[in-house]
Amino acid sequence: MTISRFVSTYAHDVRDPLTAKLAPFGTTIFATMSALAVETGSINLGQGFPDTDGPSEVLDAAVDAIRSGQNQYPPGLGIPDLRRAVAEHQQRFWGIELDPDTEVLITAGATEALAGALLGTLEPGDEVVVFEPMYDSYQACIALAGARIVPVLLRPTPEGYRFDPDELRAAIGPRTRSILLNTPHNPTGKVFTAEEMHQIATLAIEHDLMVITDEVYEHLIFDGRQHLPMSTLPGMRERTLTISSGGKTFHTTGWKIGWISGPQPMVKAAMSAKQFLTYVNGAPFQPAMAVGLRLGDDYFESLIANLADSRDRLHAGLHGAGFTVYPSEATYFTTVDVTPLRADGDGMAFCLELPHRIGVVAVPNQVFYVEPAHGRNLVRFACCKRPEVIDAAVERLVTLAN
Ligand code: PMP
Ligand code: GLN
Repeated sequence: MTISRFVSTYAHDVRDPLTAKLAPFGTTIFATMSALAVETGSINLGQGFPDTDGPSEVLDAAVDAIRSGQNQYPPGLGIPDLRRAVAEHQQRFWGIELDPDTEVLITAGATEALAGALLGTLEPGDEVVVFEPMYDSYQACIALAGARIVPVLLRPTPEGYRFDPDELRAAIGPRTRSILLNTPHNPTGKVFTAEEMHQIATLAIEHDLMVITDEVYEHLIFDGRQHLPMSTLPGMRERTLTISSGGKTFHTTGWKIGWISGPQPMVKAAMSAKQFLTYVNGAPFQPAMAVGLRLGDDYFESLIANLADSRDRLHAGLHGAGFTVYPSEATYFTTVDVTPLRADGDGMAFCLELPHRIGVVAVPNQVFYVEPAHGRNLVRFACCKRPEVIDAAVERLVTLAN
């Protein structure tokens, strides 16, 4: 039910309270499809959240923090030990040096980091170049900032999703303020190649743009591929805000502990907005996240190995069902074209019917596009579930081929 319908049932002369900025966005697809999964008792391969707990050291640290009284507002920037742990993590994995006192900010998940970064750096009328499809909060936050989104299409190919460098160049104009990048990428499972990253960096430098880079899937990369953080490219450190969070890496999506790092003026701009969004959050989860970030390499390696196994199981099922399956190089997600199974290529209708047909929930990709027609035939499945759950979903999916 939309807000406007809700209001009109109560008072016909009350004006719709919803701001025009947000009206186009409706209810997030994740809420809608997870509710449908519960309603139909389906296996939820829609919203990306793991169905197992994270490492016990991390969980225990949160319990200890609650029991030892770390239950009041933490400092505005986040507790110093977590800021240090983020800086150590960036150095350990990516060779990025950060001052934890001025170049790191703890946020309520990557979602608030994105909101803070966009609201803190954009003027009304600015333009932001974003690859589509994109995580759904990007469009809404850019709209809230009064800025304009300029999409550049990622097209599915048998080798993965690709953009046309000429289209990227053409998207940048006199009003462009930033490029908002997400690698590894949701929903496509794409890892931007070194060549693509350099193309983006070259344009950012040439046009003096900021880059806001969402790297929440930095550790979920398969088949020996490497994550290349934007801020490590020549000339990019001073113009890049890097965003990540612990939700995916430590199976704690409900804790909403995220972080931003980058040059002090950019972090400060994000902080200026963030302080009026939540101010702070998650006091006892902050020390626990510091424990997670300092876990040994074996943890990060087993995370990838387990997820790659789940991806492979899911892929077998998707191929068996008869979809056109695009490669998933990273993240929880695999995208498919439904056209072989549904001649009209209507991914939304397909996803709304699927739970009733076979008890599986997926997400229609069209909601991740500025121009929904670009992703009309594409659907996203998440593999971040226990192997037996994926196998049960696969058993149901392959019946679609009959
Ligand atoms: N960015 C991307 C690309 C995501 O997929 C998600 C959600 N999983 C987020 C940001 C939000 O992360 P968080 O749950 O930490 O707010
Ligand atoms: N990031 C997760 C996804 O893309 C869930 C995000 C959410 O529920 N807002 O599925």
